Amino acid sequence: MGTGTGTCPTPGQVPVPVPNSVAYPVGMDDEIHRAQCPYCGAWEELILDPESEGTMVQDCEVCCEPWEMTVKKTRSGTLSVTLARMD
Ligand SMILES: [Zn+2]
Repeated sequence: MGTGTGTCPTPGQVPVPVPNSVAYPVGMDDEIHRAQCPYCGAWEELILDPESEGTMVQDCEVCCEPWEMTVKKTRSGTLSVTLARMD
């Protein structure tokens, strides 16, 4: 688990998670979502293509653990993102 292409930093350099208190401007095309890593608790900014619905696997930039990331489009056309652990 967590092994792969390996551009991630080594574990142990985990920064202090920052509370999600800052409103983030969202562009007209890509949507930026903030989600909390289910492993290390770091807040990640996820830039989503509005067409990229579905379930995919993405590694945390902080702790390198793989998320199962589920992207769904709501009725209003915005995206909702769920991060789940894979273990
Ligand atoms: Zn993480």
